Amino acid sequence: MALIVQKYGGSSAGDAGRIKNIARRAIATKEKGNRVVVVISAMGDTTDELVSLAHQITSQPDEREMDFLLSTGEIVSSTLLAMAVKALGHKAISLSGSQAGIQTDNTHSAARIRAIDPRRITRELDKDNVVVVAGFQGVTEDLDITTLGRGGSDTTAVALAVSLGADMCHIYTDVDGVYTADPRLVPEARKLKEIDYEEMVELATYGFKVMHPRAVEIGQIYSMPIYVASSFNDNAGTVIRGGIPMEVRNKVRGIAHDSNVAKITVLGAADRPGIASAIFEPLAKANVSVDTIVQNASVDGITDLTFTVARDDVPKALKVVEPIAESIAAKGCVVDSDLGKVSIVGTGMQNTPGYAARMFTALSDAGINIELITTSEIRITCIVNRGKVVDAVRALHKAFELDQE
Ligand code: ADP
Ligand code: ASP
Ligand code: MG
Repeated sequence: MALIVQKYGGSSAGDAGRIKNIARRAIATKEKGNRVVVVISAMGDTTDELVSLAHQITSQPDEREMDFLLSTGEIVSSTLLAMAVKALGHKAISLSGSQAGIQTDNTHSAARIRAIDPRRITRELDKDNVVVVAGFQGVTEDLDITTLGRGGSDTTAVALAVSLGADMCHIYTDVDGVYTADPRLVPEARKLKEIDYEEMVELATYGFKVMHPRAVEIGQIYSMPIYVASSFNDNAGTVIRGGIPMEVRNKVRGIAHDSNVAKITVLGAADRPGIASAIFEPLAKANVSVDTIVQNASVDGITDLTFTVARDDVPKALKVVEPIAESIAAKGCVVDSDLGKVSIVGTGMQNTPGYAARMFTALSDAGINIELITTSEIRITCIVNRGKVVDAVRALHKAFELDQE
């Protein structure tokens, strides 16, 4: 008897009809002789609506209360799903993240799973239940509710699959699998049959929203295969796994994009040891994730330091950086919030020249100006004007012939 962990995202649980659809799918999986754990996200846009509600009360909601509030979205959907399964004549129980044994650190809104105690889930499976677990949440040692970061139900699902010793983790969503680029932007994007963890972590980090990067990372660390497919049909999806042979990798695997980028420049900072750490350490402590960092060549011991953050993090970043800029006698900070990034990713790019040049040519042919460039061994990212992101993704998809196998 196999144990299967299935996760359904918010778009697959938008209304009562869709929750009933999930119930039917979970039951069908059980009737094939499997033990079934279903992780579910909040219905539709519930999490966004709760965030907006909190901001109507106060511009700076308390982070503990915020996490407690946001966790209710998944409580609603998981209880309704358990009811739907029961209404169809099968046994089911819903569990909050805390009841499911998901213990986290106390970083509110971006908590990390420390450990999972799967005993309660196992007991409920032994009683023949479909076990429905509220995604995206856990509990601290002090019994405070935490959330795992937006999109975090994927992380709940893969972590549970690992801790329960499942054969595979199934992620059901509103697209048929992982495509070479967001299929909503690029009609000729091609569905991948399989993709290696390493490439998927990079693509998810740089914008493939279909999977949360931390969930893929957990899959990679524990060699848990992840199957991404549609919750609305039975079309074959995409398997994310390790060990995909090198010969079929010698290509760009996907074009990721992110339209939520801002650039902050600290002007006229002294070029001496300690300045970068004076800026980036407090940013890390404030939980602001910094991506591209560029330091200009200094003139007369003075330099400009530029870095990018998510646009939503600009207020938090400025609160940290402006006083530091003043204390190191920099001339000030300037912000450009109207940026996005496009990335090409593929393990086939390692040690192979020419990819960067092809990328820059394709962007220049499409009349797109590159603001900043960063690379890793398997990725090249260009920061461009936000209004040009879609054109850039399409141009790169074409230039690297990703519509062809
Ligand atoms: P869920 O509610 O199921 O968690 P998400 O909205 O988080 O779903 O993720 C699914 C969305 O990811 C799709 O609707 C699609 O627009 C987007 N997406 C971005 N890049 C890709 C890609 N390369 N392949 C498939 N989907 C992608
Ligand atoms: N409901 C949460 C969010 O919207 C978690 C998730 O959907 O995975 O981010
Ligand atoms: Mg998601």
